Amino acid sequence: MNWNKAYIGTPPWDIGHSQSVFEALVKEGEIKPGRALDIGCGRGDNAIMLAINECDVAGIDIVEDAIKDAKAKAIKHHVNVNFVVGNVLQMDRLFMEAEFDFVIDSGLFDAMTDEERPVFAQQVHRVLKPGGKYFMLCFSEKEHKVYGLRQISIAEIELTFKSLFNIIYIKDSTFDTGVGPSSIKAYLMFAINN
Ligand code: SAH
Repeated sequence: MNWNKAYIGTPPWDIGHSQSVFEALVKEGEIKPGRALDIGCGRGDNAIMLAINECDVAGIDIVEDAIKDAKAKAIKHHVNVNFVVGNVLQMDRLFMEAEFDFVIDSGLFDAMTDEERPVFAQQVHRVLKPGGKYFMLCFSEKEHKVYGLRQISIAEIELTFKSLFNIIYIKDSTFDTGVGPSSIKAYLMFAINN
């Protein structure tokens, strides 16, 4: 996937507002005011939603243009979010160990190759406090329309994260979409950092 190219227009995942799954986690009190990081934040809607709900938020994305747009959007919403350009696989260059209470991931784990997955898990583990919470939303193998996306099984998620996290649940969920069907089948994982 050429991420830079995707952001020349409006990529299909950029729905212009936050994902309802993460809004619900805030409403239910699963995500509370604290230090939060949105990995693969894109144009920043989920990060901004957390900031509006009184989290102290950082967002990281590899695409400079997406981060530029996210920064402008935060100003429009009168919130302060530390949006940075960077590679999630090299977050040791950007964030301290155990810096965050929460990490949210809306469609980034999906993008990792088999080789990248262990590094990815290690990087998320490193930035979270022990006992910190990781909420990850990814495309599910239960979605029959492929949309060119990699479809992930519960076993693969467990294999990637179980050595570094205590997986509380992996449950059926959905991504809201901007075009086509109103939602796509997804898995939501809640894991507590070891
Ligand atoms: N979370 C956003 C975007 C999801 S798409 C949303 O819900 O709208 C996945 C995002 O991850 C893209 O914005 C892409 O640029 C970013 N990304 C892909 N690989 C990355 C990497 N190695 N490090 C940081 N960001 C990455």
